[in-house]
Amino acid sequence: MSRVRIGILSPLPLAATLSSVAYHLLKGYLEESGAKVYVYYFEDGRLASIGRGSPQPRELDALLVSVTFELDLPRVVEALRQGGINPDASSRGPGDPVVITGGPLPTANPITSLGFSDAIVIGEAEPLLDSILDALERGSRSSRLRALADAGLLVPGHSPTPVEKVYTKNLDEAWYPTRIYIPRGVEPVWGYSYPLETSRGCGRGCRFCMEGFVFRPLRHRSFNRLRELLEEGVTVNDVNKVSFYSLSFFDSPHAERILSYAVEELGLDVSVPSLRVDTLTSRRIELIAEGGQKTLTIAPETGSCRIARAFNKEISPSRVVDVASEAVERGVRTVKLYIITPAPLEDGEAFEGTLSLIEDTARSVKRLGGVLRVSVNPFIPKPHTPLQWLGVPSERDFRERVKRLRATARRIGVEVDFYDLKLARVQAAIGRGSWGVERLVIEWGLRGVGLGALRAAANKLGFNLEEMWGPLKEDYNPPWHDLVRLPGASLDLLRREYEKFLGLARSTCSWR
Ligand code: SF4
Repeated sequence: MSRVRIGILSPLPLAATLSSVAYHLLKGYLEESGAKVYVYYFEDGRLASIGRGSPQPRELDALLVSVTFELDLPRVVEALRQGGINPDASSRGPGDPVVITGGPLPTANPITSLGFSDAIVIGEAEPLLDSILDALERGSRSSRLRALADAGLLVPGHSPTPVEKVYTKNLDEAWYPTRIYIPRGVEPVWGYSYPLETSRGCGRGCRFCMEGFVFRPLRHRSFNRLRELLEEGVTVNDVNKVSFYSLSFFDSPHAERILSYAVEELGLDVSVPSLRVDTLTSRRIELIAEGGQKTLTIAPETGSCRIARAFNKEISPSRVVDVASEAVERGVRTVKLYIITPAPLEDGEAFEGTLSLIEDTARSVKRLGGVLRVSVNPFIPKPHTPLQWLGVPSERDFRERVKRLRATARRIGVEVDFYDLKLARVQAAIGRGSWGVERLVIEWGLRGVGLGALRAAANKLGFNLEEMWGPLKEDYNPPWHDLVRLPGASLDLLRREYEKFLGLARSTCSWR
């Protein structure tokens, strides 16, 4: 049994932290291994812990930090500082805890997180947890770091690069939590429910989607394993709801069966994640509605055939309208559409296609008494995707789209929210940051967690943020490809996919 004292640090508020499968998995597995586990989160600018009597993070052997996206980074820096740990990993001494970071962003581009991390998990943590605990049992800090590098983590100064992504080969054999850890009086974002991960990875290859490339390959839990976890999970935790987790739920060959089992055999309420429209059948919509889900989230991204095909996510507007309408007919109250605009190479005609998609869906949903909500994001280039060489759309184009969408929304009575272009730029600039961005992240976090703090840090260190969120040279080989090797996301493959994107985005196409 391990005697390690370890912290889990989430840079998110408590309710969001409790909704993460990774939190329940890490806490459960580490405690079962005998480690003493403390959980920290970041709420309203303050580091806080779950439960009383948690030590200061600086007193622990190690801290496991999760980073999902770019705006988490300054929060991690500030949380470390408040926890008494020097945010600059290179300045830590022999008595300091080892800071181990993981998550989709550090896997896609570890440079973003190298400034504050002693070691980075490239890929998935479960297969490494035993080795991490063993490494932390070693005496000195340097022998711990060497052991972490030997186990397959990226440890600056100790790991030969590129580091191969580590991932669970067989989900059925992997440890999975049946007990969830929700403190009394706190409601997770998805309510009180048992979180059940049905699949991991996604085989679709939408060219803008970082999760799709970073979580490859696609793996599924078997029906028997899902049933076993579900039965135990709802009993142990005394909940009557299950939240399914996966990137594309119905791509699992067992998704419909386990959904039907949950709803019709066990009588549970369900929450299913964002769904691909082309996987939704009448039966599946019926089950979702019967399971009490009131909002159906779908992400067609665009109404333009040309852009949809170039994105490799070709979902026709008529299919979106049919699915949204059927969902409302069967009892879903709200349909939520995710749209990317401006998309790269999206001209006026392509945007008109997106407006028509929204209008047609709204008309149909409202006629049936439902509500349509639209969430609009400008295109954000992400590391380790085929579109990583493109820039964030211009402010002029974004404003123009916002104006048109607002006018349309008012006219047809639809709620639209827009992701802030400034935040999109930060994601692109930092997420695709080259060498040096690890210092910028530290400086940013030491000055605050907002955009003013980032600008001040960039000015001080001489970074040109505008260049960083713009397009990259087409012959530029991003340095993250030298650091990590992710299956199904090699530089050559991404370049070929990028060329395909350009070819399709410049060709003609019409919905059949
Ligand atoms: S957008 Fe959805 S379906 Fe496409 S690759 Fe990403 S997770 Fe898969």
